[in-house]
Amino acid sequence: MVHLSSDHVFYAFEPGLEPAITIKQGEELTLETMDCFGNQLKTADDSLDALDWDRINPATGPVFIEGVKAGDIVRIKLLKVEPTGHCTMACIPGEGAIKAIDETETVILENTGDKVVLSTSRGDIKIDTLPMIGVIGVAPQEGSVATGTPGAHGGNMDCTMIGQGATLYFRAGVDGALFGCGDLHAVMGDGEVSVCGAETPGIVTIVADVVEAGDLPTPFVEDEQLVAAIASASTIDQATHDAIDAMFAFLTKVVGLDTNETANLMSLVGFLKYCQVVDPEVTVRFEFPQQVLKELGFKGIGK
Ligand code: CA
Ligand code: ZN
Repeated sequence: MVHLSSDHVFYAFEPGLEPAITIKQGEELTLETMDCFGNQLKTADDSLDALDWDRINPATGPVFIEGVKAGDIVRIKLLKVEPTGHCTMACIPGEGAIKAIDETETVILENTGDKVVLSTSRGDIKIDTLPMIGVIGVAPQEGSVATGTPGAHGGNMDCTMIGQGATLYFRAGVDGALFGCGDLHAVMGDGEVSVCGAETPGIVTIVADVVEAGDLPTPFVEDEQLVAAIASASTIDQATHDAIDAMFAFLTKVVGLDTNETANLMSLVGFLKYCQVVDPEVTVRFEFPQQVLKELGFKGIGK
């Protein structure tokens, strides 16, 4: 097993990044990640005003995956997603989707392992943890995308399905893919409406390889229950239509259904969900049940 510490972080997914490590396909890699604040907020007294905003949303990497060619579909299996230490939240006027916030506040949440504890004026609320990765992706073919922004390459998608046991698919923009991830949440609701989840440092264990998956739309994610097409755009309207189109493309081109039966199935058993509505681009996903794919005789992506 190889390991990459959080001494190796970057702040924009771009083709020219210098790899921090090279791994073989099928080789397990553990990545130590910082929280989205660059681990700068240790206590409730640590003011957001003192934050170094150049250190926000660090992604650990970049990881060069041997044998990956630009255009390949890279499969990332998330073997483990483990928060380490306390969680942090921040209320920031003007950020997020709740316009009433008019006071800046740093809130520290205890993480007991299976619960995070939010103190409120009515007592402590214990919330079941469901760890997930906010920022995860590969370098785009060209240009530079800040790690705080999601897109076709992945990035800050803040999708609650991206947790332990999930498998992600990205189309490599460059040879080696230049993978990175960070911004773990011990738990987060769909939408991320306040602008953050239970932000936490952590350890992520992945295994990566190339998969022959033809016209699979990316980014794409699956777990035991669901597959989902993920789309990010500047408006919720656009991201919604892109996510619908991407799932339609998966069901027609990869699974092999015709147009109207796909439309009917998507309308009957699909779940259209917001990942987040608060980042520079918003992210929407269209979920579809694995059970129905199985009944359709679909053997699985790349099989
Ligand atoms: Ca995030
Ligand atoms: Zn986050």
